[in-house]
Amino acid sequence: AEDSGIKPAENLNERQEQAVRSVERTIAVIAGHGTGKTKTLISHLLYLLEVRKVKPSEITAVTFTNQAAGEMRERVKKQLGRARNVSQLQIGTFHSVCLNFLKAQGVEFSLADDMSTLEAAGIVLEQMDLRMTPKQFLRLVSLEKSGIDVNREEFDLQVGEEKDWKAAVQFYQNILQEQDMMDFDDLLLETLRIIEQKKAALGWEKSFSYLLVDEFQDISPVQYRLIRVWNQNGRELFVIGDPDQSIYGFRGSDAACFARLAEDDPELNEIRLVENYRSTPSIIDAATAVISHNPGGLRLLTAQKDEGAPVRLASAGTEMGEAIFIAKEINRLTGGIGMLDAQELGVERSQNRGFSDIAILYRTHRQAELLEKCLRTEGIPYVIAGREDFLMEDEVRGSIAFFKCLANPKDEFSKKVSLKLLWKLDKNVVAESVFDTMYQKFSPLYRKNRPQKFIDTWMKEMEFEENTSMKRLAGMTVFYKTMSEFAEALSLGVESDLKRCGSKKYTGEAVTLMTLHGAKGLEFPVAFIYGLRKGMLPFEKDGKADLEEERRLFYVGMTRAQEELILTTSGEESEFLKELPMDVVIREKADKRKNTESGKQMNLFDFM
Ligand code: ATP
Ligand code: MG
Repeated sequence: AEDSGIKPAENLNERQEQAVRSVERTIAVIAGHGTGKTKTLISHLLYLLEVRKVKPSEITAVTFTNQAAGEMRERVKKQLGRARNVSQLQIGTFHSVCLNFLKAQGVEFSLADDMSTLEAAGIVLEQMDLRMTPKQFLRLVSLEKSGIDVNREEFDLQVGEEKDWKAAVQFYQNILQEQDMMDFDDLLLETLRIIEQKKAALGWEKSFSYLLVDEFQDISPVQYRLIRVWNQNGRELFVIGDPDQSIYGFRGSDAACFARLAEDDPELNEIRLVENYRSTPSIIDAATAVISHNPGGLRLLTAQKDEGAPVRLASAGTEMGEAIFIAKEINRLTGGIGMLDAQELGVERSQNRGFSDIAILYRTHRQAELLEKCLRTEGIPYVIAGREDFLMEDEVRGSIAFFKCLANPKDEFSKKVSLKLLWKLDKNVVAESVFDTMYQKFSPLYRKNRPQKFIDTWMKEMEFEENTSMKRLAGMTVFYKTMSEFAEALSLGVESDLKRCGSKKYTGEAVTLMTLHGAKGLEFPVAFIYGLRKGMLPFEKDGKADLEEERRLFYVGMTRAQEELILTTSGEESEFLKELPMDVVIREKADKRKNTESGKQMNLFDFM
């Protein structure tokens, strides 16, 4: 069914428009990369508000990252101006939507961050004498709580069958509960429990009347259940996704959720999009050739862009060589010192790129280190997505931990951390009494003051006024009305995701460094994929790799590129490289420009 009415403002193709105007109970847009799924979802949301006059308070849109949520909110605001009350519109990740739900339901708790969950896991492992790392334990606990049952086996394998898995999980839960804490998975489970047991205060359903979900291929079993209960009596469920981009199998997500949805709602309206607006034909062809090695039907996409540069595959002798190559290439692309090399190489210089047009993608966070060194040597500005170093400084971590104590007096872990990082006095007794005095002083302010004022007072008291990291933390407070709102955003990772700088949204020109997982949904004129070597991509653990999932991950990475895709490798090549169609790919040696007149010469010694 379609709603007749005004045409949505944006230019959409016929099928996108059909999806935007669709009024069915359940709508699934299933389509490949760059076909405008996210654009369609946003247009549908705007259409609900503008044409169908749905109240903002009746709409929830779930995105996969805080960044995506932020962008969506911006676009809606821009389109609607101040005419409608956009603040009542709920846009967020599963976790932030659940957090808001629980708060609205009056559940009292604080959110356990990494530090607290690691601490709790450590206690469990020590007291139950389990030989595994806290990280391993937490991963299994998280799987268990996401509704996946591989954990039992893995646990037995690791620590022996005589140990009691269920008891270990329960112990962990008790430790959190004693301190009124929930971890990330608990947010989802507790929301589900309250709704399923019909304990939610009346009227909560209203805000889920129109439920929109991006990246549906990556939802976990628990998230699927949430979607169902949230929208059970609602009007519309609108989901979009691409089964070939399902990359969270290790967390229990499964592209079969589309089939499950069709089963649960036989009247599902399925819409397929085939026009790709993002990438050049060579990039699309290369990506299609790779993903075709996975099962699944024909992947037909029609490129809307003109033929661009071929995909490049550069091999270096070492990882260092790869990183140096990337840094030099970026200089060339942005009109920096490597420019002269372009002619020599015979590579077209299409246009001067800005640093923010460029992304470097890799499989694991650890790979960033070498890249960082090379970028710094070449003077290239960069940001690492999902990682804010200043938040890890002692003063900042200690301060945040102290704020968490103010929010939740039962939070023993945070007390420990703030004592350790802020008041490193010789005798514990003295430190404790300093803690208590500060607690008395700041506890009332925490609830009364706006975040900006609160942090100012705090910085004066602690003599942190000159501390750059604390200044940056203070700069973020302008976005929040209360201290608890601010503290929660920090725990959810909202601030590290958003790339804000000072009190402004981060708009500085910088190259983006991120993992392939983190790049989902994004696009860049130029994308590098670094580290395409055996063992790294496909990533091997104990000599084994989940080939299909790793291939999807590579595919997600390749399809982020709009105009230029540059792959780099060293050592033994990734087997995925054999799947590339050589008619649209050119091979080159990464180190061949070693002795050019580019001025600065980098070599191993720069890094010693
Ligand atoms: P992914 O699977 O990677 O998440 P997607 O299907 O969500 O991709 P979008 O990010 O929504 O795709 O769109 C990809 C690009 O194509 C964006 O730059 C978008 O603005 C552009 N685009 C989408 N539809 C159209 C259209 N009808 N006309 C022009 N450009 C479009
Ligand atoms: Mg998308």
